Order: sequence, then C-alpha cells, then structure tokens
Amino acid sequence: MPFGNTHNKYKLNFSAEEEFPDLAKHNNHMAKALTLDIYKKLRDKETPSGFTLDDIIQTGVDNPGHPFIMTVGCVAGDEESYTVFKDLFDPIIQDRHGGYKPTDKHKTDLNHENLKGGDDLDPNYVLSSRVRTGRSIKGYTLPPHCSRGERRAIEKLSVTALNSLTGEFKGKYYPLKDMSDKEQQQLIDDHFLFDKPISPLLLASGMARDWPDARGIWHNDNKSFLVWVNEEDHLRVISMEKGGNMKEVFRRFCVGLQKIEEIFKKAGHPFMWNEHLGYVLTCPSNLGTGLRGGVHVKLPHLSKHPKFEETLKRLRLQKRGTGGVDTEAVGAVFDISNADRLGFSEVEQVQMVVDGVKLMVEMEKKLEKGQAIDDMVPAQK
Ligand code: ADP
Ligand code: MG
Repeated sequence: MPFGNTHNKYKLNFSAEEEFPDLAKHNNHMAKALTLDIYKKLRDKETPSGFTLDDIIQTGVDNPGHPFIMTVGCVAGDEESYTVFKDLFDPIIQDRHGGYKPTDKHKTDLNHENLKGGDDLDPNYVLSSRVRTGRSIKGYTLPPHCSRGERRAIEKLSVTALNSLTGEFKGKYYPLKDMSDKEQQQLIDDHFLFDKPISPLLLASGMARDWPDARGIWHNDNKSFLVWVNEEDHLRVISMEKGGNMKEVFRRFCVGLQKIEEIFKKAGHPFMWNEHLGYVLTCPSNLGTGLRGGVHVKLPHLSKHPKFEETLKRLRLQKRGTGGVDTEAVGAVFDISNADRLGFSEVEQVQMVVDGVKLMVEMEKKLEKGQAIDDMVPAQK
C-alpha cells in the first residue's frame, strides 16, 4: 500500500490523457466528479504548502470502493486545498452533502440547551452514546501533508492547551509511542482510541506517515471527554459514556469543545473555519460540523427487516459496525449516527440522531412483540 508520495515533476512531460487515473472500477465521489477537463486544468497547480491534485485524489484512486460505506475518495492537504482545487471539490461536496451549493452558507450551533430531549434513550437497547468532531489548527498543513516538525508542534500546542482544562475536564495526555501494545489494544477495545493505521483509506492518503510519532490521546480522569491528536485530523474531540443519555454527552461535548477553542484562540491559533465550509477538515465528508453523533444500539429484529435501510435513509442516519468505520456489525449491535455534516447545525444533527434512534428503538420493540412496523417508516421528505 503506498504511503502517499506522489510528488514527481517529470509527470508534466506526459499529457493529461497519459497521466489520467484509471477510474473504471471505482465507486467513490471523487471518481464520479473527476473529469479529464478538470484534471487538465488542475494538474499543475499547487497550494502554497505544495499540495497537488494527485495528492488529493490518490486515496480514491487506490481504493476503488469500500465494503460498507460510499467513500469520498479524496482528502485536503491544507486549508487552501479547498480553494485552489475548488473545481474538483465543489462537485464532490455537492454530491456528498445532499446538493450543497458553492454559494451555500453553513450554520454553527453549539448551544446544547437548544437540543430537545435526548436524556431518555432506552439503555436496554442503547448501550453507549458518543459525539465527536474534528478541528484543524490554522497555519499548519493537514495530516495527509503534515511534516514531522509541524506534527510535533501541533502535539505540543494541543497538550499545553488541553492540560490547562480544569474541573470535569481535567485530564492527561498519553503519547502513542510511550504506550505498550497491550495498553494501546485495551484503549481500542474499549472504543476510546483510534484504530492502528491499518485502513487502506488512511494509508493511501498519506496521513499515517511517521506513525506513531506525535500521535496520542488526551482524556479526562473518567474517560468521558477525549481528544485524539494527529490522526485523521489535527484534533478529534469526543464526548462519550455508557447508556442512552445523549443530552448529557452533547452538553459535555459543547462545553469542553468551546473551552478548547477559546484556549487555542487566545494562544494565537484559531481553528480553520469559514462561512461556506464551516469547520475545515481533512476529509470533505466531515466539512461543516465535523460532527458524528451516534449510539451503539441493539436492533436484532429491525436490522433484519426489509425496511431497515429505508428507515435509516429517511431519518438521515448512517450505520456502521461497532468496531469503527471499517468493521461490520456483530451480534446485531450497530453504530447509528447522523449522515449529514454540512448544511445542518450541530444541534440539528444531534436532534436527528436522538429522534431517529428513539423511533428505531420503538420499532424494535414492536417487532419483538410480533407487530408490524410498516406504518412507522417515516415518509419521504
Ligand atoms: P469516528 O472516526 O467517527 O470517530 P470510527 O467509526 O472510526 O469513528 O470509530 C472510532 C472508535 O469509536 C471505534 O472504536 C468505535 O467503536 C468507537 N465508537 C463510535 N461510536 C461509538 C458509540 N456510540 N459508543 C461507543 N463507542 C463508539
Ligand atoms: Mg475514523
């Protein structure tokens, strides 16, 4: 598996036709959007830090599809990637984010008090609740393009910022390179830590270079507020706990996240954000809120029902296995989360999860009793 080195200036000795990737067997958003014309127009451009079109698309060229989700097939290497390579990103963003247009504006709402309900998801079905997002620190390139020095600087900045948190957020940083294999595996098995860099999507994008240098996890004392450093994004901020109290998980998420943002701002390092894209992140699928709010939920009957997929789609929800994006569901426990990131605020997205999961649990209970659920499937909006 390549590690994302595509810098080769001799390629300009060949025509665009000769260099154009073979996308015949591909099923990702990039492969749908990339035309020979776009390739011709953009192939000799680069961002100020030196990220190129071939760097952007390499992960999608090397990974024609994914067994469980429709992938995006490209990454950004820095904040400017989204403007310099707008001709490619715009149609991809439109396709991935339900028609989101280049002129559309995104809204941010991190006021947890605007969420309605969410503290009563049935814990007999909902095993755990989690909300995560990514954040990028302005002035540094993103993980697919980060240099060792940049990555270490980001780690240092982040640890200083996070260690200044107090109260329920007081915690400690655990660098990956100081962890034993056993400790690392335990954190992964407990769903606290990112997987080892085994995903071909991650590897081909270049973001696993120099692993495990400057990677790690910071978490508060009771492991309910966690921050991943230098995985797919500079920062991944996570709030989670066992059971179905999404309201409390979202409260802690919003409060902690805003505290972190304030500290970074004061230190002269704001997060990347703009009105059109919201929070700027490595994967175009995460633009906007970067938020994935989800639950691990037991749905043995509903998941076998022919209306399961349709129900998810109508509720604008997505399913994964409980071991993360690259895993299949086992024992009918699913990771159910919002499908949208862009065009809806944080509150709106978590609201969809809360309302949708509530409905799905009700459907599951009906099926348990042998009753029909067809009239419960939400109508097409
Ligand atoms: P993401 O990239 O959105 O953080 P992944 O699918 O890569 O999510 O999963 C990362 C880790 O988070 C995995 O170990 C997964 O089991 C865990 N996880 C995701 N959602 C939940 C949840 N609701 N409860 C507990 N763990 C979760
Ligand atoms: Mg992930």
